[in-house]
Amino acid sequence: MKYLYATVLVLTLSACSNPDKATAIPVYPAQQLTANSWVIHGPKEPPNPKNQGFMNNPGIVLTSAGVVIVDPGASVQTGEMVLRVLKSITAQPVVGVFNTHIHGDHWLGNQAIVEAYPDVRIYAHPNMIAEAKDGEAESWVKLMDRLTEGATRGTHAVIANTAIDNGDSIRIGDADFRIYHVNPAHTKSDIIIEVVQEKLVFLGDNVTFERIPRMSDGTFKGNLAAIDMALATDANTWVPGHGPSGDKTLVLAYRNYLDGVYQAARQAFENNSDSSAVKAIAEETTANFVHWQGYEDELGRHGVQAYMEIEAAEF
Ligand SMILES: [Zn+2]
Repeated sequence: MKYLYATVLVLTLSACSNPDKATAIPVYPAQQLTANSWVIHGPKEPPNPKNQGFMNNPGIVLTSAGVVIVDPGASVQTGEMVLRVLKSITAQPVVGVFNTHIHGDHWLGNQAIVEAYPDVRIYAHPNMIAEAKDGEAESWVKLMDRLTEGATRGTHAVIANTAIDNGDSIRIGDADFRIYHVNPAHTKSDIIIEVVQEKLVFLGDNVTFERIPRMSDGTFKGNLAAIDMALATDANTWVPGHGPSGDKTLVLAYRNYLDGVYQAARQAFENNSDSSAVKAIAEETTANFVHWQGYEDELGRHGVQAYMEIEAAEF
């Protein structure tokens, strides 16, 4: 009885230690993609109160040394959900985390992993570590809180502790993680991760599926180059930053979108039209994508951005 009382007291104290922490996220299903990899596919909608900010694709890879997680999500609540899902797959500890880029919907879940496994290594590109320390981390915590109306509260930024770059190969247990980086691609800080033995690639937001992401931190030309680098691997399972995983056709689909916008911008530039003309041309070159989440909001912006990129390259 004494023991029970002590337990209840500890639980009560720990619940009170962070009274502002928002409620937990319900468990989402994990899909097994290869012998040793799973992905929890997040909702397609942008961060909002209903999805509690969860909208990315956290990945789980089992190695002989323990578990590796890719992009544990937008908040401490998402990271905790990933750990609950993980418990239904294995009792092994988490030994490594990869963060694919600076956008906070992918990595603010680091906090939950570090709280459970304080010695975990968190890998990211040095540009991401620098940008996060330079204020991006704070602004992403605030943005998520605002977009979800407080559903990520209790989240603070835990920034990666290990820098990795293009050409690196990290061996964790019996698994090799090869890193690809183009600057700038979707952002200045993307890493694409090839899990060699699984013939699987985590693309980050260099590729999304059924959802058009923001491109304001990247370039069309660089993003296309990053995709081509990934396509040169012999992978046959592909995990986009958002949307369902699958075979190479999803990579080619998103490449077609970027290329459609880029070609429309080139055509407008060569016709001596201004950047506002790109959208109408791009509506034809990207007509297959009209049902993708975010298309209506982003196409006009993407057209102007691609035009400015082409213009800048000419002068
Ligand atoms: Zn992103």
